Amino acid sequence: MASSTEQARILDGKLAAKQIRQEVTEGCAALKQRNGVIPGLTVVLVGEDAASQIYVRHKERAATKAGMRSTVLRLDADCGEEKLLQTIDELNADPAVHGILVQLPLPKGMDDRKVIEAIDPDKDVDGFHPESAGRMTIGLPGFVPCTPAGVIELLKRNEIEMSGKHAVVIGRSNIVGKPMALLLLRENCTVTICHSRTQNLPELCAQADILVAAVGRLAMVTGDFIKPGAAVIDVGIHRVEEESQLRELFGDDAKRLKTLAEKGSTVVGDVHPLEAAQKAGWLTPVPGGVGPLTIAMLLKNTLESAERTAP
Ligand code: NAD
Repeated sequence: MASSTEQARILDGKLAAKQIRQEVTEGCAALKQRNGVIPGLTVVLVGEDAASQIYVRHKERAATKAGMRSTVLRLDADCGEEKLLQTIDELNADPAVHGILVQLPLPKGMDDRKVIEAIDPDKDVDGFHPESAGRMTIGLPGFVPCTPAGVIELLKRNEIEMSGKHAVVIGRSNIVGKPMALLLLRENCTVTICHSRTQNLPELCAQADILVAAVGRLAMVTGDFIKPGAAVIDVGIHRVEEESQLRELFGDDAKRLKTLAEKGSTVVGDVHPLEAAQKAGWLTPVPGGVGPLTIAMLLKNTLESAERTAP
């Protein structure tokens, strides 16, 4: 438990992600040697969304570095849904492609659901297909969404006991909150899911041994949400550009102030960093916590897909 002078221990996502990527790299080399198969990941990017371009570039580089055949297919925002569906069909039929990821959000006029459903569930390395969600729910093998899967890896690699513990997840999105809750249940946690209509949110959260914040609200999880000694996982990503706001969140943290001065912004999560550090037993930093694990788990899923179909 962190006392008033003690700070929460860091759950280092960068380190865990590095280890996972190293394991995947070794797995790719072994698969190539054993079966002559190179895992193939194809990311489909539709349109010019600036953030998506950056995410896709990171995924492409990470896959190449791990020894995968990494391809980005870029389509114009106005290519039409039919063209996108036809592209997915071709990728489904291509034996050299083991993982297909359609970068979201899609441009207006395209139906995310319909597009995700077009991906072969055996190549659904993002784990967003309804069949993947169903398999996860009833405990069958299948792909699990990368961000919540990364959180479980982080907890395991830091030997944080999950079985029998009370886990509270704030957020019920299909890509983070819901799968997160199901994966914690799979690890034998007693799980509470909170959301925008939840009453007594701080009181519920303060009962958690493991608290996962996937709310999308900057620093909403303050000290009163946290049971002393709890493991607090911060999934949120927000940019802070104002120095006064930064000081409220980090005090006089010189490193943060330097980042702000140099880059014009710094990244903050859903959890209030200063208050959580004083109350939690374990805490994921932002950046360097959950974020790096998402790509690492995408690579892990792609390798698994290639291994499953290897001759
Ligand atoms: P979302 O907007 O789809 O879902 C947010 C959830 O929070 C909803 O289920 C809603 O019910 C709940 N919520 C909203 N306001 C609330 C409130 N006041 N009290 C309680 N619950 C409330 O968001 P998402 O896609 O699940 O993402 C959540 C956050 O995680 C975002 O900041 C997003 O940027 C970040 N994210 C990070 C990664 C990563 O790799 N680190 C990946 C995905 C998402």
